[in-house]
Amino acid sequence: VRVEEKLYQNRYVVDAGRGHIKVAAHDKPSANLLAMINLCPAGCYALNENGKVEVATDGCFECGTCRVLCEPSGDLEWNYPRGGYGVLFKFG
Ligand code: SF4
Repeated sequence: VRVEEKLYQNRYVVDAGRGHIKVAAHDKPSANLLAMINLCPAGCYALNENGKVEVATDGCFECGTCRVLCEPSGDLEWNYPRGGYGVLFKFG
């Protein structure tokens, strides 16, 4: 079974309007934020038309990569989703 097929079995409950990750306001994205575009395993990060990095938290695996890389530098704010929301992993 391919990884993508396994990941497809996960479910994600969107907490509308209350994304658990917020990118800090910036004129130019830092190297860390730019790196997240390629590092996030769920593909949550992207450049917008203004050249700024945006995060779409739907589908986030809560792996913590962006938290480790970007929270200490103040590039983003990271909290776990509220109870009942976020990723639901299917094991087995
Ligand atoms: Fe992507 Fe992991 Fe950050 Fe979620 S926690 S946005 S999956 S890098």
